[in-house]
Amino acid sequence: MQIGIIGGGASGLTAAIAAAGCGAEVTILECRDRVGKKILATGNGRCNLSNLDFDPLRDYRSHRPDRLPGFFARFGVSQTIDFFESRGLLLTDRDGYLYPRSLQAAAVLDFLLGELSRLPVRAICGCRVLHIGTQGPFCVETDAGSYRFDRLIMACGSDAGLTGEHAQMGLALAGELGIQWYPPLPALTALRCEGGFWKGLAGVRCQARVTLSLAGQKRGRVYTEIGEVQLTEYGISGIPVFQLSRFAAETLDAGGTVTASLDFLPEYDGEVGRALFDRQFLACRGKTAGELGCGMLPKKVALFLLRLCHIQAEEIVTLRERERFQRFYEKARRFETKVMQTNPLSQSQVSMGGVSLDEVDDTLCAKRRRGLYFCGEMLDVDGRCGGYNLQWAWTSGYLAGLSAAKSDEKVEKP
Ligand SMILES: Cc1cc2nc3c(=O)[nH]c(=O)nc-3n(C[C@H](O)[C@H](O)[C@H](O)COP(=O)(O)OP(=O)(O)OC[C@H]3O[C@@H](n4cnc5c(N)ncnc54)[C@H](O)[C@@H]3O)c2cc1C
Repeated sequence: MQIGIIGGGASGLTAAIAAAGCGAEVTILECRDRVGKKILATGNGRCNLSNLDFDPLRDYRSHRPDRLPGFFARFGVSQTIDFFESRGLLLTDRDGYLYPRSLQAAAVLDFLLGELSRLPVRAICGCRVLHIGTQGPFCVETDAGSYRFDRLIMACGSDAGLTGEHAQMGLALAGELGIQWYPPLPALTALRCEGGFWKGLAGVRCQARVTLSLAGQKRGRVYTEIGEVQLTEYGISGIPVFQLSRFAAETLDAGGTVTASLDFLPEYDGEVGRALFDRQFLACRGKTAGELGCGMLPKKVALFLLRLCHIQAEEIVTLRERERFQRFYEKARRFETKVMQTNPLSQSQVSMGGVSLDEVDDTLCAKRRRGLYFCGEMLDVDGRCGGYNLQWAWTSGYLAGLSAAKSDEKVEKP
């Protein structure tokens, strides 16, 4: 059995290990100068490769979320841990987030390459697949020659995190074969917001509750995340913003509007928050407004919100002015900004959209082109920040590789 894999990323390399482990001869065609480059950039160089806190219906989005539990039931987090540890790569868990014990992404790539080196797998790099022929079973044309395979696995990933010159063409190749896909959009990325004041806030990192309100196609939907928000010269970033960004991308793409509301005191809800403010107000009587604000919030944020409420930082806090200071408190709880754009795919960690799960069966084989398999980010599955996207790459790569190698279905010419 000759199996071709287009793409040597996390999912393609896992598919190769699974397929070759079952006795298939595997060829990986990779357009970049080496395989696994994206793995090295993951988790800030530490590779957050999965997560012990796992619920497919909560942690992933897809147009067919109901299909996901079935895939993870066959190769989920415990199988992933076993896949690495039983072959000699120890993992460590930081609050449920799984990393290689060395905390080095390179260790994961070295591990995968080591496994491949002992299996009948060859990786041909600098070789871009340009066309998948219809004479078959699978005749693959690249800019470095043609190859024939009995089975083909497409593991082309997405353009997320890549600059233009590395742009992929996986979905276009799938489209030529009649496979339906959803247009890719940025996910896990920062949000560009309205207003000329962001430059002055750039560099602030603080705990905040971020609430996105979507109007338009998804009218009335509201999503919330709490965590460390980063204010940038163009808007908001940080993990809570990344988690919400896919909803903004989807709504803006459909012509809707998106408003982000920031609560800079997320740990003090309702009465507790009001009591906190009362205490701060009384504690700062006779002091300046700047002292009151900076005692509660990061300096840049405090001074910005005071200005917004027409309060001078040098003003003395007096009981008579309580109402104005109350407005400042309310702004700190609810600062609204219009989201104009997400960052582009090149500055995103993943893309949403991709090959529809309706196109594949439970073995990840294309329903309309038998012998053709899909895995990884190329499929219409995107996960939250926290190791979930790599988990999908391991899951889908392993299942696609195993299914392709074990399938004895006769592949007809289309
Ligand atoms: C900066 C950054 C940090 C991230 N951190 C994390 C993290 O900590 N945890 C996590 O879970 N996820 C993380 N992700 C997401 C994760 O890296 C991806 O979801 C995952 O790597 C996708 O694997 P893949 O195999 O599907 O695709 P890729 O890794 O993108 O691999 C696809 C491969 O196919 C090749 N290819 C494409 N088209 C062709 C063609 N026509 N011919 C030949 N070759 C082709 C590409 O060159 C590429 O090597 C991060 C992403 C980025 C960008």
